[in-house]
Amino acid sequence: MGKNVAFHFLIFGIVQGVGFRPFVDNLAHEHDIVGSVANRGSFVEIFAKGAAGDMDDFMREIRTRAPERSIILKIEAKKISPDDVACDDFSIIESEREAGDIFVSPDIATCEKCHSELYDKSNRRYLHPFINCTSCGPRLTIFDAMPYDRERTSMGEFPMCDACADEYHDPASRRYDAQPVCCNECGPTVRILDGDETGSDAIKRVRRVIADGGIAAVKGIGGFHLVCDATNEKVVAELRRRKHRPTKPFAVMTRDIEAAEREAEVPTSARAILCGHQRPIVLLKKRDGGNIVSGVAPYNSKVGIMLPYAPIHYLLFDYPIDDTKMPDVLVMTSGNPSGAPICRTDDDAREALGSIADVIMTHNRRIRVRADDTVMDFYDDEPYMIRRSRGYAPLPVMMSASREKCVLAIGGELKNTFCLAKNGLYYPSSYIGDLSDVRTVAALKETAERMMALLEMRPDVIACDMHPRYQSSRVAREMASRLGVPIIEVQHHYAHILSCMAENDVAADKEVIGVAMDGTGYGTDGTIWGGELMRASYHGFRRLGSITPFHWAGGDRASREGWRIAANMIYDLMHGDKKRTHEICDALHLATETQVDAQMFMEDNHINCVTSTSAGRLFDAVSAVLGICRASSFEGEAAMRLQYAAECAQSVQRECESKRSDLSDENELTTKFEDKAKRLAYFFHDEFAKIIAESATRAAEKEGLDTVALSGGVFQNTLLLSMAEKRLKQAGLIVLRHHLIPPNDGGICLGQAVAAMMQ
Ligand code: ZN
Ligand code: ZN
Ligand code: FE
Repeated sequence: MGKNVAFHFLIFGIVQGVGFRPFVDNLAHEHDIVGSVANRGSFVEIFAKGAAGDMDDFMREIRTRAPERSIILKIEAKKISPDDVACDDFSIIESEREAGDIFVSPDIATCEKCHSELYDKSNRRYLHPFINCTSCGPRLTIFDAMPYDRERTSMGEFPMCDACADEYHDPASRRYDAQPVCCNECGPTVRILDGDETGSDAIKRVRRVIADGGIAAVKGIGGFHLVCDATNEKVVAELRRRKHRPTKPFAVMTRDIEAAEREAEVPTSARAILCGHQRPIVLLKKRDGGNIVSGVAPYNSKVGIMLPYAPIHYLLFDYPIDDTKMPDVLVMTSGNPSGAPICRTDDDAREALGSIADVIMTHNRRIRVRADDTVMDFYDDEPYMIRRSRGYAPLPVMMSASREKCVLAIGGELKNTFCLAKNGLYYPSSYIGDLSDVRTVAALKETAERMMALLEMRPDVIACDMHPRYQSSRVAREMASRLGVPIIEVQHHYAHILSCMAENDVAADKEVIGVAMDGTGYGTDGTIWGGELMRASYHGFRRLGSITPFHWAGGDRASREGWRIAANMIYDLMHGDKKRTHEICDALHLATETQVDAQMFMEDNHINCVTSTSAGRLFDAVSAVLGICRASSFEGEAAMRLQYAAECAQSVQRECESKRSDLSDENELTTKFEDKAKRLAYFFHDEFAKIIAESATRAAEKEGLDTVALSGGVFQNTLLLSMAEKRLKQAGLIVLRHHLIPPNDGGICLGQAVAAMMQ
């Protein structure tokens, strides 16, 4: 058969560092295609010549048989003259730079093949803490510049040994063209920071410390983790003490999926994600009789679980050349001082973790971009993102509605992420953190510069929040003046709604009813918004309503201490009757008389007192009133515990209903259900959802719209979300909600980017 057809292909997507070129090479040989494949930095270019039938198969199979870790976003195919492909074999051409949309692969968890080699005594990578291949290993975190080649990664410092080089250059090897490939001979090494032990001695030492009830800091893929035995009450309490973190849940890593299933209920859908190559932390319902001590995730029905994703994690659990017996579950929490970004360098770790960890294990492969662990909940059997980072960032969100310009959206103040956008592709960054800490602000600047360089983007406009005193806005203004580009300020809750619309790829001219139930954000009227109903499109919004404004007296302290908000709400409900206010606050054990007086004084004299419609603060206040949580030790604690109380009531109620049909002992069940605070917590959720649904439905009718978008941090509360969504759907409305972009402030960079793009 003659080779009489020829094509020129451009393939866009995650096609770098995932074995795409060798795959194309093999496929071409299989189908008797001649020509070439080249990595162009932002895309893969193929020249192909062959017989018509072969070419059809080749084209189809590029999509259907593409390497597991690749993501093809677009293929441009152009027919060319067979004379333009003047070769009689197929070959891989070395990298050359060319401009275009750039895709950087996220980091990928250790694959099964590498995992079995890791424990194969006869393999030359036996117990190698950095084993990887074309389908697994670090990517974003070791990147310096495109195109993705070894010298432009942190592995450039580690020349390959002959054996590794042979595999790297052999198309038949599963390490062909794998940039981080290395072995015990030529790869990076682990060592104890400021100690003598290296290699296996270092690993043994860390295992011993953990098994003996100590705390270790371990450098992984995207930063350091603090690690301890999750089945040891004492060490978990000690970690909380040293980290100054009294109740915020810790994530855990289990030895394997079986251990995860012993600790928590793992639905099939969550199992696939838990075992998948992104390896996020998945929030799963705790199981009775699990070994994780209650101090790991107190006041919470769920616990965040992840499986090992780097060789070093596997070696912590199983190290055949060491007899230390390790637990099946380890606390694995970000190694950072509260508020600061995750530690990335030895200096960071020494300074920040030296007083927390009994031992620090580091290694000499540099982390260039931090990557915290991704956290996701499950809702309606689908992932519901809480923190989008390692494994997901910097994959772009694709949007049909777009314009031709380049945008940098700097994001919000809490849970900061930023977003770069160009040509309908929006790249939300990995998690940066809370900008109240100067180190986090520095990390934002540094990471934004790095990503701009990596994705080769120079923004035409920079978007930020409207808040005049946000650090994020200050960073945006600095960058805008340096680059000489305009800045646009986007209202916080409008940005939330836009991020939800963008994630759902809403059409360019569509308008929706936006419901933003959130913590706080600066409103266009200078007050603190947070429970907003709006008519919104990509081009603007109009506020239709909100939670009834209340007095927020006591500034930042009142954002942590819900009893303060509650005291002023009661004062207002009593129409300024101080005596009645005192009686009620006293009966609720809300605060002392002096404390309540102080709150009323601030309100009366307009001292440190603003007006707010924040849904987050309303939840805090209700949590305090019910005696569930008077004050939070971390953002969202009061609301989280209120949700937990409501879920307890819900499950007791379900139990009652199911048992009632068996006509069993009704008295006992009624007693169980009579935990008043829990029942009221449930009642509050239900009523609040009803109010949301009724007002959104009324607004939709009045405005002539059929779609409601739900966003804002309060919708992390899946109980509230389910109650509201159900009612809205019953009212015949289309409900848009988040999936892989967080409803909290970690998602607003996307909304800001869309606003700037469409303006
Ligand atoms: Zn592998
Ligand atoms: Zn080697
Ligand atoms: Fe927010």
